[in-house]
Amino acid sequence: MKFIILGCGSSMGVPRADGFFGKCNPNNKKNYRSRCSALLKLNDMNILIDTSPELRTQLIKNDIKKIDKVLYSHMHADQTHGINDLRIFYIKSQKKIQVYADKDTSKYLKKTFSYCFKNISKEYPAILSLNSVKKVLNFKKKKQKVNIRSIKVRHGSVNSICYIFNKSLAYISDVSMIDKKDFKFFRNLKYLIIDCLWYETHPSHLGFKESLKLIKEFSPKKAILTNMHNNLDYNELKAQLPKNIIPAYDGLTINL
Ligand SMILES: [Zn+2]
Repeated sequence: MKFIILGCGSSMGVPRADGFFGKCNPNNKKNYRSRCSALLKLNDMNILIDTSPELRTQLIKNDIKKIDKVLYSHMHADQTHGINDLRIFYIKSQKKIQVYADKDTSKYLKKTFSYCFKNISKEYPAILSLNSVKKVLNFKKKKQKVNIRSIKVRHGSVNSICYIFNKSLAYISDVSMIDKKDFKFFRNLKYLIIDCLWYETHPSHLGFKESLKLIKEFSPKKAILTNMHNNLDYNELKAQLPKNIIPAYDGLTINL
């Protein structure tokens, strides 16, 4: 099983659409950050988390030939607006792709991308089927199984869902607050991939100090910072981190 961080940039990406790199060194490839999404790759099943606006290029770069399921964290544009790139995977499999989202995100997806969920014409059939996220999801294909726990967390004025895979890896790209009652699920994981927008604080995200505080509290074997803004240069940030914490970069792959 592999977990691939397809994109680790904040909402405008690094560089931004106007080419602005902020404090990031353009000569370091690890500073080129597309918008956040990730993929859990089993032998016969690929589970995508969020559909970043750069989904197409992310999948090409990582040689992903199929998508079986999509888990959405929340409805923001940088997590959803690449949804149309799922069409090819429907065409190849001739099966609607199973998509999982909470109530608010489902509502947003159905309203904004209604053509993905409704048959428009013979040429444009529905490509996705929407499911509500349960607390625990179990997916199985051939002999491989994956257990996924979903945990509702706060992300400024909206909720976001953290996904924990096989009680071993938590992925949470957009979060400002985790409820204390859920801390038990986060303790002693192998990997914690967590929001770290920038050095300052932010109403919808964890800043550097807050991310490090939570990592200390949860003590994973390894923590990986994601959703990074253009003022976090890879090398500069890495030099400030303890050994068990690293900044993410696009394409970072973890063998589980
Ligand atoms: Zn967001």
